[in-house]
Amino acid sequence: MGRASQGTVAAELSPTSDLEGLPGIGPKRAAELRSLGIRQPLDLLLRLPQRWEDRRSVAAVADLTGRWNEGAGEELATVVGYLESVRTIRLRGRRTMVTARLRDAADKTLDVRWFNRPFIARQIDPAARYRLHGAVKVKKNGLELLNPSCERWEVAEGEPALTPIYSSLGPHGPATVRRWTEAALRQDLPADPLPADLRSRRQLGDLPAALRAVHQPPPDASLDDLAPGSPPWRRVAYQRLLERQLRLARRRSLRRGTCAPISLPTDPDRLDRLARPFPFELTAGQRRCGEEILSDLGRSWPMDRLLQGDVGSGKTAVAALALGAVLEAGGQALLMAPTELLAEQHRQSLDGWGFGERWKVATLTASRRDAEAVRRELADGSVDLVVGTHSLIQHTTRFVRLALVVIDEQQRFGVEQRQAFAGHPHRLTLTATPIPRSLALTLWGDLELSILDEKPRGRQPVVTELQPITERMAVYAELEKRLERGEQAFVVMPRVGGEDKAGATAAVEVEGEALRERFAKFGAAAIHGGTPSEERQAATAALAAGDLRLVVATTVIEVGVDVPGATRMVVENAECFGLAQLHQLRGRIGRSTKPSKCILLHGPCGPAALRRLEQLVHGDDGFRLAAVDLRLRGAGDLLGARQSGLEEFSGLEEWLAEESSPWPEYARKDAEELLARWQDPALAALRERLAGDG
Ligand code: ADP
Ligand code: MG
Repeated sequence: MGRASQGTVAAELSPTSDLEGLPGIGPKRAAELRSLGIRQPLDLLLRLPQRWEDRRSVAAVADLTGRWNEGAGEELATVVGYLESVRTIRLRGRRTMVTARLRDAADKTLDVRWFNRPFIARQIDPAARYRLHGAVKVKKNGLELLNPSCERWEVAEGEPALTPIYSSLGPHGPATVRRWTEAALRQDLPADPLPADLRSRRQLGDLPAALRAVHQPPPDASLDDLAPGSPPWRRVAYQRLLERQLRLARRRSLRRGTCAPISLPTDPDRLDRLARPFPFELTAGQRRCGEEILSDLGRSWPMDRLLQGDVGSGKTAVAALALGAVLEAGGQALLMAPTELLAEQHRQSLDGWGFGERWKVATLTASRRDAEAVRRELADGSVDLVVGTHSLIQHTTRFVRLALVVIDEQQRFGVEQRQAFAGHPHRLTLTATPIPRSLALTLWGDLELSILDEKPRGRQPVVTELQPITERMAVYAELEKRLERGEQAFVVMPRVGGEDKAGATAAVEVEGEALRERFAKFGAAAIHGGTPSEERQAATAALAAGDLRLVVATTVIEVGVDVPGATRMVVENAECFGLAQLHQLRGRIGRSTKPSKCILLHGPCGPAALRRLEQLVHGDDGFRLAAVDLRLRGAGDLLGARQSGLEEFSGLEEWLAEESSPWPEYARKDAEELLARWQDPALAALRERLAGDG
């Protein structure tokens, strides 16, 4: 019955079908867009404009301040005027800088600079007026507009005042995206695919009307009518979250259809029994997460849970609860760490908690000679638990009764490339990058989430100071005194990107080497991008063992290794790092009850960058810092890498960074509910829309 109704309804509703109908999109481009997740014109329309420019609100140059604004961030301004003194300057490498001066209607001028846009200089007509939109920066001798958008200023009669500005789509710039979006809007828009009952429950308007409102605002619309959270914005954003959740819910339901190798019988004493060997009391958060995991392990289908917890929140102990439960029940388990050093450290923790006495535990890492023997013992079932590195444990490692896989990802987000193991074992992924629950739900909504949001008591927060690079000598003199007293420290320098990467990296390495020499009497080690991984780990291990007092890292150091004696950290050019990243870095120190301090040295940077870094001085909540990163720098920056599912959500940061936004949660609930009545004729359009994707 479902199938018949689906067929007929789909035929009349078929939503605008194919991208190739749009002007300027041929088969090649359509294929390219498909790989970016744009399959139908509706996908283009569901990408909300990044912002709207209000042509009516042109600023007078005299009114600009360049000041940081608490709510809005750096000052963005639209100015109109003539462009004079246009010059192109060649910089090192192949880079160029175009400078110009804008003269507005009140005859006030403002400097403008563009990097790497030489074509701008060729196009500027001194007799025409231009409209520039961009960030106002403070310079030594006044203000400037940096890398603004620039268009000829001609207002046509009846043209809407609000112009949508889109983010790029792969290689296609905002102007192209705008042209395609306008074309998609001119087609017959399909009727709203959501059933009326759902729309009224969530007080959502009609989708086609919302799409018209955001992409082609009526002439009298104001920015407030379209701002994030406004009714049309909300309707479009919700559609995206809901479609994402429907896909994730389908994946979850597939998992529920499979059978886990072990399902634990109910046992109210299990948690306390398993926690007994720890030399500490579990925190309330560890208990809660532990219970969530144990309850999953009692189900018949495989667990797939993400345990999120700030650095030092004690995720290993929670993982140990899960491992112990499965081992007690006779299953085999696997704990994977991102580096050999971490694998060794996990192994030591587990041994300290009595695992070695109760079960046969093995380590599988590259430097172990006995890898083949361990593999054999896993395959014949004589080893119960294996601790190893991600890279070593490939599909070829066989188990007889593998029941649980624990993956310690640290700051890397391997969640997208989770390995498959035969026999559907339970899976627990640990991650140290705290991201707001709303974003986690949206990205990884096919996993269950446990959040460890408190740290063991007795830890002293890391005192954080922000200092200009001019204080560098004083900072190192102070560091020297500390080292003399036997304290241990890290110095971190950013890995440098950009065009003259090789040169800049070399410069940082020279600096690092100079520091190493200066502090050689403390057995300082310098590690950088070219240092082989064994050497890098050896340095950290020597620090942990107390054989060295200083590690200078000109590369990203591995997070997660416990160096209880390290009490000092200096980060150079802190402005090059994301907040969440800096927070993780400083989590390397402050792991004992001794007071520790992290000094962030910053190079010359504007008020916006300083305000951002100050958040670290005052805040120790990784989740909140991550939310700030997300709002200011976008999701890609927060997670350190572009990954599927992220690009898709640019523009939704307002909802995804905001813990208090209920919408990501609503989307998840509604998706579950819709999936439960998936064959309902009212859902035909939605089924059609999601047909044929994973
Ligand atoms: P992370 O979440 O960063 O992986 P770890 O699991 O490495 O944190 O734990 C950090 C340190 O805190 C370890 O030395 C661990 O033994 C200790 N620890 C874990 N749980 C507690 C607790 N409830 N009370 C006191 N110390 C704890
Ligand atoms: Mg850890």
